[in-house]
Amino acid sequence: HSSTDPPKINRLSDSVVNRIAAGEVIQRPVSAVKELIENSLDAASTSINLLLKDGGLKLIQVSDDGHGIRYEDLPILCERHTTSKLSSFEDLMSIKSMGFRGEALASMTYVSHVTVTTITNGQLHGYRVSYRDGAMEHEPRACAAVKGTQIMVENLFYNMTARKKTLQNSADDYSKIVDLVSRFAIHHNNVSFSCRKHGATRADVHTVVTPSTLDAIRSVYGVSVARNLIKLEASDNDPSSSVFKMHGFMSNANYAAKKITMVLFINDRLVEWSALKRAIEIVYATTLPKASKPFLYISIVLPPENIDVNVHPTKREVSVLNQEAVIEQIQSVVELRLRSSDEARTFQEQT
Ligand code: ADP
Ligand code: MG
Repeated sequence: HSSTDPPKINRLSDSVVNRIAAGEVIQRPVSAVKELIENSLDAASTSINLLLKDGGLKLIQVSDDGHGIRYEDLPILCERHTTSKLSSFEDLMSIKSMGFRGEALASMTYVSHVTVTTITNGQLHGYRVSYRDGAMEHEPRACAAVKGTQIMVENLFYNMTARKKTLQNSADDYSKIVDLVSRFAIHHNNVSFSCRKHGATRADVHTVVTPSTLDAIRSVYGVSVARNLIKLEASDNDPSSSVFKMHGFMSNANYAAKKITMVLFINDRLVEWSALKRAIEIVYATTLPKASKPFLYISIVLPPENIDVNVHPTKREVSVLNQEAVIEQIQSVVELRLRSSDEARTFQEQT
């Protein structure tokens, strides 16, 4: 046949399709950790403990004390699109859980070896079972277990050589994971978190349940951050504009860091919102004389219909309705607070 003939179109095998999709959801160890923590939170856990080997490439182990997984559900647990959280597309609008697509665990089984140990309330023993490519490798085995679920993800990207090589050369995934756990720990101050490297005696993040967000920030980010924070609160009850509520903490005029830290939760989801981050950086840069970067923890509550949580494969970015209006309102609150803290400081210096 001639060279102008079109190439033949083939159907990709399921295993190729699934591995490609999995590589999008699980981009690096920290993305698997985020999914596992969110599952533990969705399971109403009060304690979540992480253990990592080799920045998560060798082992990610997440143990929680949540409601566990039913024995009958174990066969389909790691199949794609199996979830206990969503049933209709319309549910997406009001969904409170962080998971909803039933894709995280499945994805992990296509790019690593996953072992689940779980026990449900009132059972005398738990079950342990390993998964590969969406399916159980054997029947669940009865085993001793403490309340909740433990998930082990081993040899991440064992079948994606290029991805594994790039990640092995970057030493920073463990610090990304510590950063992630830190963020969850200050928002979910009703849950205790710990994160430890295998072989280390001390945990790198270790929090206890506390009713005070400021205490949680102090225990994760240190006293030097906590003592320079101002309370941030704003709400907007004008139904004609975009309705939102916000609370959190922002650093004052005395605080100076080289890099901005902005811990942002929208409707209890940990997200990135680069437009808001830039807008706040501008406020600090123009209000304070020195080019000091701020620390902020912001929790925003928006009507669920004003936010689309399903725009990003890792659910990292969300899209917000009337984003400019919301950003402007937050900017002006931050600016007001910052100005008064700066004036107080100047006043102190003069007297
Ligand atoms: P999703 O979170 O979107 O539902 P996942 O693949 O992350 O999808 O998890 C699939 C299902 O497995 C969840 O819906 C939940 O029922 C169950 N599950 C996963 N992790 C846990 C856990 N730590 N505790 C209890 N149930 C869990
Ligand atoms: Mg999930």
